Amino acid sequence: MFSTTIAGSLPKPAWLAETQKLWPKWKAEGADLAQAKLDATLLWIKMQEDAGLDVIGDGEQSRQHFVHGFLEQVDGIDFSNKVEMGIRNDRYKAMVPQVVAPLALRGRVHGTEARFLRAHTSRPIKFTLPGPMTIVDTVADRFYGDRVKMAFAFAELLNEEALALQADGVDIVQFDEPAFNVYMAEAADWGVKALERAAQGLKCKTAVHICYGYGIEANVQWKQTLGEQWRQYEQVFPALAASSIDQVSLECIHSRVPAELMALLKGKDVMVGVIDVASDTVETPEEVADTIGRALQHVPRERLIPCTNCGLAPMPRAVAEAKLKALAAGAALARQRLGA
Ligand code: ZN
Repeated sequence: MFSTTIAGSLPKPAWLAETQKLWPKWKAEGADLAQAKLDATLLWIKMQEDAGLDVIGDGEQSRQHFVHGFLEQVDGIDFSNKVEMGIRNDRYKAMVPQVVAPLALRGRVHGTEARFLRAHTSRPIKFTLPGPMTIVDTVADRFYGDRVKMAFAFAELLNEEALALQADGVDIVQFDEPAFNVYMAEAADWGVKALERAAQGLKCKTAVHICYGYGIEANVQWKQTLGEQWRQYEQVFPALAASSIDQVSLECIHSRVPAELMALLKGKDVMVGVIDVASDTVETPEEVADTIGRALQHVPRERLIPCTNCGLAPMPRAVAEAKLKALAAGAALARQRLGA
């Protein structure tokens, strides 16, 4: 009960990349960089295990950014001529690569780090990939001329990599779809279908992470415009409940998401965000256990997975370490409170 995990990303050590940035520059190159990425992965595997987490990830130490890390291994994308684009409905600007030709995988994207992760922990492992809708919202299209068509083209490539990750021994493949919280009608209409295409044929667990973004300034300001109640999930969860995806990751602590919306995910495992990624204040185990207690009113205990609200990538490293410990300690306290 209450098996713990993180949404995905963790801060990169200062010797690997710039710190507290969403698109940090690497500090090495070539073979040195490849080794440094794996060294950082090993560090975070150990940190997650020592904190007491149950499902372990690679902390996304090998990718500069959760979307562009995947795109770097895709043919048909021009990375040498990035353009500025408003993303997440113009919430913020980013320099993005352009799709200029039919898309195809150049080979394995995350094989090295997935096999490395599998080799260095005996606990269940989770691996994250960007979801198709979020990818099309983070790249400029100069070829397909149609968001849905391009999303399904990406979904095929994601599926290829996801099946290979499963063969590497990954227990859970998670797709990150923050765009679902921005384009709700489209998400319910074709976003979930594209996601299912990406997960097609997987026998391991499948998951989707839907959040209100990293704790960066543009997101903090955006959240202030969303009103007293954040009901974005209400439009997407029914389509997800009817889908083939096994687990759904959502924001909870310090958000204005009405807890009862979790009940829309009947039949799914629910990864409940009990760690805030927009604040450096470390949660107490009591606070984490209280949040789990509130979620239990809407999610059966055997389906509740305590998690972080989003990735911890842009946070100070020491804060992230402390939050991992709070997550595991809070889940342990919640078990104790239930007499389990
Ligand atoms: Zn997130």
